[in-house]
Amino acid sequence: MWTDKYKKAVTFSYDDGVEADRKLVEIFNRYGMKCTFNLNYGIQNPQSSWVNNGVTISRMPKEGLKELYKGHETASHSYEHKNLVELTAEEIEEDMKKDIAGLESLFGCKIMGMAYPYGTFDDKTVEALKNVGMKYARTTMTNHSFDVQQDLLRFQSTCHHADPELMALAKKFVESDPDKPQIFYVWGHSYEFDVNNNWNVIEDLCKYLSGRDDIFFGTNSEVLLGL
Ligand SMILES: [Zn+2]
Repeated sequence: MWTDKYKKAVTFSYDDGVEADRKLVEIFNRYGMKCTFNLNYGIQNPQSSWVNNGVTISRMPKEGLKELYKGHETASHSYEHKNLVELTAEEIEEDMKKDIAGLESLFGCKIMGMAYPYGTFDDKTVEALKNVGMKYARTTMTNHSFDVQQDLLRFQSTCHHADPELMALAKKFVESDPDKPQIFYVWGHSYEFDVNNNWNVIEDLCKYLSGRDDIFFGTNSEVLLGL
């Protein structure tokens, strides 16, 4: 339990398993950051690609992903990135079971959580996730807070990496001396750094956070479930 030794933890959450994750992993590894990568097993291949602002974005082939994400967590993002609220409860469970089984065989570890595709969810979705054993699910809602949350299946991030308050929040977190556990949770998509040509955003954040011995750097599971 990180809370035995620390009051503060940092964790990251990045979606879709795209080629730009390779560069993001390299940055996280260089600065000792830990991330959870949310993947769609059913479309985890380079044929799944699209163009955003003139930049071609492709999902990676499955080969080599276990090595790439070593030291980080892999979690579910549903099987085919469908909008889960448009499915029946049964369909959601089927979809999630396929994603979880595929990822567990690919990575040889238990899949503990997920991130909602398109950020959409409702009570039916939450119930279905519970039924397939998900312990946490990240929404796209952000709250600029570091407080521990009770409803882990409707989890809200502190902020997205493109939030104008990103570095101000990081500074507030680093300089705080809390008497209860606090979590700084950042989410995004690695391709956004290519599309917006701003890899410096994540490089600067990791550089600023790194090497601090009063902060635990962990995956989503370690940070959210290891309280
Ligand atoms: Zn996604």
